[in-house]
Amino acid sequence: MLTVPEIIAELEAMHGQREWHWWPEKPPFEVCVGAILVQNTAWTNVERALEQLRAAGALDPERMAALSDAELQSLIRPSGQYRQKARKLRAFLATCAGAGGLDRLLALPAGELRSRLLQTWGIGPETADCIVCYAARQPTLVVDAYTARLFRRLGMGPTAEGYGAWQDWLVSSLSVATDEGSAEWYARVHALIVLHAKHLCRKRNPRCGECLLRRACSVPKT
Ligand code: SF4
Repeated sequence: MLTVPEIIAELEAMHGQREWHWWPEKPPFEVCVGAILVQNTAWTNVERALEQLRAAGALDPERMAALSDAELQSLIRPSGQYRQKARKLRAFLATCAGAGGLDRLLALPAGELRSRLLQTWGIGPETADCIVCYAARQPTLVVDAYTARLFRRLGMGPTAEGYGAWQDWLVSSLSVATDEGSAEWYARVHALIVLHAKHLCRKRNPRCGECLLRRACSVPKT
C-alpha cells in the first residue's frame, strides 16, 4: 500500500502542471467571495458571478457592502442559491467590519480567524479553511468530499466520517518536514486532490487507465 506522501507525489506528477483557480495567489477578498459562492455549485458558475462582480467594481468589501440586496443578488445569480449566498456575503462583510476590516481579520492567528469565520452565518468548516488557507495564506488543510472519495477508493481514511475526522487523519498522515506543513504545501495538497477528482477520479466512470494510483486502488477496472 502506498503512503499518503507517496500518493501526493503521484498526484503532483499527474496534475502539478494543471491550472487551479486559487493557484498562484489571488486577491484575498476575491478568494473569500469565491469560497462562499462555490458552495453547492461548480467553479465555472462562480467564475461567471465573480466576473459580474468585477465588472461592477464590487470585488471590494466596502463597495460590495454599499450594494442593495437586489443588486448583489443579481450580480451573483450565476452561482445559484443567490438569495442565500447574498445573505452569507453580508454576514461575512459584517465579520470583516467587526474585526476592523478584511486585512485585520485575515491577519488574526489561524485559530482565532477560523473561530470567527465559523461564528459567521453560512460559513462551515470547509469554507472557513479555504479562507484561512487561500486568502489568509495560513497553514490549514482543506478537506472535502473529493478527499474522502479518493482515499476510500484507495482503502484508506479515518475510522469515523465527518470533516474533523478527515482533516485530522490527513494531517497526521502527511509527513511534515521542511516546507511541508506550510500554507503553500497544504494549499497544494488540497488543490491536487480536487484536480485529480475532477480530471480522473470522477464519481462515475473514473479514468483509471490514465491514473498512476491504479495499482493501489480497490475500484474494479474494466
Ligand atoms: S485508479 Fe481510478 S478510481 Fe482509483 S484513484 Fe485512480 S482514477 Fe480513482
